[in-house]
Amino acid sequence: MEDYIVYGIVLIFGIMIGSFLNVCIYRIPEELNIVTERSHCMNCNTKLKWYDMIPVFSYIFLLGKCRSCKSRISIQYPIIEALNGIMYVLVFYFYGWDSLYSILISTFYCLTVSALIVLSVIDFRTNIIPVGINVFLLVVGIATVLTKYFESGRSTDIVLDHAIGFFAISLFLLLIYYSTKGRAIGGGDIKLMASAGLLLGWELVVLSFMIGCVLATIIHPIRMRVRNIGRALAFGPYLSMGIVLALFFGRQLIKWYINTFFV
Ligand SMILES: [Zn+2]
Repeated sequence: MEDYIVYGIVLIFGIMIGSFLNVCIYRIPEELNIVTERSHCMNCNTKLKWYDMIPVFSYIFLLGKCRSCKSRISIQYPIIEALNGIMYVLVFYFYGWDSLYSILISTFYCLTVSALIVLSVIDFRTNIIPVGINVFLLVVGIATVLTKYFESGRSTDIVLDHAIGFFAISLFLLLIYYSTKGRAIGGGDIKLMASAGLLLGWELVVLSFMIGCVLATIIHPIRMRVRNIGRALAFGPYLSMGIVLALFFGRQLIKWYINTFFV
């Protein structure tokens, strides 16, 4: 199959999943059922028709307004949908689809990115990382390690690499958690770095934590000044950005670093 056809299918699929992510973002903090509940307008409660729920396109055709009450629909919906679609294309670009192994890995990383999008928006809004998302990431992590284990001819080194990843950052954060009595770091962040560590292996999880810290140090003070928000820092979005960047560019970054400083 031609590359652009694969990317097209992946993009459309990603956008459709993105539409489901919007549902998760709204319903998980409210503890509503994410499957059975029917979608409705947030303002007038009118149940949405199927043609009102076509990702991105419905928003454009309705000019961002509810069909019955004309109240504004949040721009967040099409943004999340488009973002998830683009991310899926990037995952397939970086991890490929030329074997069953690469298709599996690409699929697991697509699921990872989607979970991180939901986690980031919820953490950003509520300062809480729902435990269910971390459990989901843990399951994806276990599936990734098993896939790599069998692909590598049952290499225990790979399992060890990922098992160390599980503890590498999370133990360090746990230490900070207890020494500051939970003021400096949230339990959700610790679990996130444990799940991500299992998924990425120790090198990439250390890198993603460093990227997350750098991003938080740069962006958070600006947001504090511009938006006049408090000091409370939702760390999840920054850690998530670190994880995604490490997934896409981690290996090259580490190679560049070693070549520059150690050769
Ligand atoms: Zn309405």
